[in-house]
Amino acid sequence: SHRIRLASRPVGVPQPENFIHDDAPVRAPEDGEVLLRTLYLSLDPYMRGRMSDAKSYAKPVEVGGIMVGATVSEVVESRSPEFEPGQIVLGYGGWQSYSTEPAGQLRLLDPEAAPVTTALGVLGMPGFTAYSGLLAIGKPQPGETVAVAAATGPVGSAVGQIAKNLGCRTIGIAGGPEKVAHLEELGFDVAIDHRQDGLREAVKQAAPDGIDVYFENVGGAVWDAVLPRLNEFARVPVCGLAANYNATSLPDGPDRSAALMNAVLRSSLTLRGFIQREFVPTMFEDFLTDMGRWVREGTVKYREDITEGLDNAPETFVGMLAGKNFGKTIIKVG
Ligand code: NDP
Repeated sequence: SHRIRLASRPVGVPQPENFIHDDAPVRAPEDGEVLLRTLYLSLDPYMRGRMSDAKSYAKPVEVGGIMVGATVSEVVESRSPEFEPGQIVLGYGGWQSYSTEPAGQLRLLDPEAAPVTTALGVLGMPGFTAYSGLLAIGKPQPGETVAVAAATGPVGSAVGQIAKNLGCRTIGIAGGPEKVAHLEELGFDVAIDHRQDGLREAVKQAAPDGIDVYFENVGGAVWDAVLPRLNEFARVPVCGLAANYNATSLPDGPDRSAALMNAVLRSSLTLRGFIQREFVPTMFEDFLTDMGRWVREGTVKYREDITEGLDNAPETFVGMLAGKNFGKTIIKVG
């Protein structure tokens, strides 16, 4: 099996030398396990956290360990009655071309029902993150204004389109003119380029009645521009802080936490962090039903950014954190 392992923990932006590319025989499956050939590997921002040993909600990858990640794979050999060779499954094989996994962690995919790559994006973890965080925490009401950044990514694009389906006014924020044009195709009411000067003013103009739900994907300058526009009782599902993932120190300038707490108090804001798995037991079945329908109807569109070759995963991953991806980042492995 060809595989990519963590050579050392990056400081700041991950570098090629933080990864080892090598080959090793894959372990034969035991009873209850399945041998899989990787077709597609998902690259997701959370992997930056797994490369670090800072305190987090999940254990880091060990130095020398294979990089983790969700995969769409073909069953090669099965020692479980639940699976047979040739079937396509969603698993957690990581950055390698073959994996041996317990049958219990696999989900059978139906290639007739939807392209199998959607299990990594719009119909998988990122789509579910959007759905659960928006509905359970954002609680958008018809006529309210919902804003989201990283808005062409798998999470943000689903947030905006679901909010639109619910009758909200939607503001999408993304990096660069091509992404802004795509936001308009996706039906966002207003699209803002965060790389342009005057972000604060642009957000102000985009939200004449203020913002009721800000789905936080990025932090940084976008958050600074949105915070003054939050309405009384606004809800902020805190989903991710992509602007900070490679940061090695706190942002420049004065400590703004007192001003933030003042705004939380004065405007009765709800800021609520979440990790999507919290909502899996209560919302995943509804998600598959609702999102499956929206994708079929075309009221939630999705875009995938597929790069060929496992060896390109490190560079593609680092590019995604900087916004070089355009849609759900996927590596075509097999
Ligand atoms: P994306 O494909 O959207 O990739 C991340 C995007 O972040 C980049 O493409 C870039 O988009 C944007 N970005 C990076 N730096 C900045 C910056 N300084 N300012 C503004 N935008 C920036 O990723 P996902 O859709 O997979 O994930 C979106 C967020 O959701 C991430 O923060 C991720 O960690 C989080 N997440 C959280 C989960 C949870 O359970 N809490 C689960 C899954 C994801 P652009 O070019 O538009 O700037």
